[in-house]
Amino acid sequence: MIGVLGGGQLARMLALAGYPLGERFAAVDPSTECGVRDLAHLIVAGYDDPVALDWMAEHCDVVTYEFERVPAASARRIAERTPVHPHPGVLDVAQDRLTEKELFTRLGLATPAFVAVSTRRDFDAAVASVGMPAVVKTRREGYDGKGQFVVRRPADIDACWSELGGKDLIVEALVDFDRELSVLAVRSTIGETAVYPVIDNVHREGILRVSRAPAPALAPELQSAAEFYALAIMAELDYVGVLAIELFQLGDRLLGNEMAPRVHNSGHWTIEGAVTSQFADHLRAITGRPLGSTRALGHSAMVNLIGSLPDLDEVLRVEGAHLHLYDKEPRPGRKLGHVTLVADDPEELEARLDRLRALVV
Ligand code: AMP
Repeated sequence: MIGVLGGGQLARMLALAGYPLGERFAAVDPSTECGVRDLAHLIVAGYDDPVALDWMAEHCDVVTYEFERVPAASARRIAERTPVHPHPGVLDVAQDRLTEKELFTRLGLATPAFVAVSTRRDFDAAVASVGMPAVVKTRREGYDGKGQFVVRRPADIDACWSELGGKDLIVEALVDFDRELSVLAVRSTIGETAVYPVIDNVHREGILRVSRAPAPALAPELQSAAEFYALAIMAELDYVGVLAIELFQLGDRLLGNEMAPRVHNSGHWTIEGAVTSQFADHLRAITGRPLGSTRALGHSAMVNLIGSLPDLDEVLRVEGAHLHLYDKEPRPGRKLGHVTLVADDPEELEARLDRLRALVV
């Protein structure tokens, strides 16, 4: 049995990919209503509940997680008795924007200029050294643009400090990127690796809205560079599973923004759009089975369904539309599902995407 810490849509899609491979699942989640509830043995408990963690350690052959804010101590407790992939040390790096950026820098992946601060005096100096506009982020616990503040002019500095001050922060240069990209790679327990085509991502209000893969008009050198950095990071961390790295493209350069040690929203297109989905390859990786090909089948786009659902019959009328619902109650800003479109050529993909976007707010 495979254990998953977290029972949301990523655990749900892992389970859906795992059943054909003969796998069974258990998940820990504090909510009885979580998306994996009908697909796994669900233990409703906090992520630091020792009884739940010990149950996972005893009954699961391997344990993974679907979100990086899992307490590292919980992953360590399980890892004393059963393998946890990616290993808990990866959480220490991925839970802190500073260690993440230091890792990128050490391996040659440039990042926006950054300075870590925790006091008001350091904060003023950091904004001065990075320059304005700057984006100030909490080092820990931020996601989907939460815990962030853009400082555009001196008058914003006080407002920013009163909102975020007191926490460990990172002040970054706000870069004027051409577009946002991500690269997903996978490494197995036996050291086999594979990298998916780089993905083009459009965000609004800090939330991913649309992904296209392979990223349109991407120079082959940038695909190679993204692959190089993903493989270097996985080797450095002795990583097992799928790893996502979020990147900014500026001309012919890539900058590293952050990484997610898990399957990733920008990789949902792989279910229909790649030879092997990110979910199947994550499971193959953590169970030591051969990895599947990460090659793209044509041109794909993924649109997130956020907050409320569109007319689903109209969505299904769009040629090539694959609907995925996460079995969650609608709530503003909540990811309720996604739709993937696959087409033979980029023009056809854009035409279908226009039809779909007219339906999805
Ligand atoms: P993050 O939580 O770091 O992924 O940030 C959320 C979003 O804010 C990113 O997807 C970008 O659109 C934007 N963003 C974050 N950091 C920067 C930066 N240094 N420069 C420009 N935009 C940024």
